[in-house]
Amino acid sequence: MSNENCVFCKILAGEIPSAKVYEDDKMIVFKDIEPKAKVHLLAVPREHFKLLSELSESRAMVLAHMLRRIPDIAAQNGCKDGYRLVINQGDDAGQTVPHLHIHILGGESLPW
Ligand code: AMP
Ligand code: ZN
Repeated sequence: MSNENCVFCKILAGEIPSAKVYEDDKMIVFKDIEPKAKVHLLAVPREHFKLLSELSESRAMVLAHMLRRIPDIAAQNGCKDGYRLVINQGDDAGQTVPHLHIHILGGESLPW
């Protein structure tokens, strides 16, 4: 189920543009519009849900698929010496888009 107010659902539907670097039947990966590192990608499942606490068996399978694809996607997009994954969850983490996503950060030595 997509959410009509969700910017990532709009990107998935092709209603707003994105700098897509990868897609398959379960996920899309595109460049963050406000990059916080030299490489900053967002890996987004096609299904709209916000939190890891909402994971079903099938969503967990999608997440596992995403984690298995990310090493190659990161390497192919400039993360040759490693990368950091971040999943912000809820208000205290500053989650601004209520559609689960994995930040992929790299392309340089990251602070912290
Ligand atoms: P979070 O704060 O974890 O919810 O991350 C949301 C991320 O989405 C932020 O890093 C934003 O810069 C990014 N973002 C928001 N809108 C867009 C967009 N239209 N295209 C690409 N990235 C976006
Ligand atoms: Zn969504």
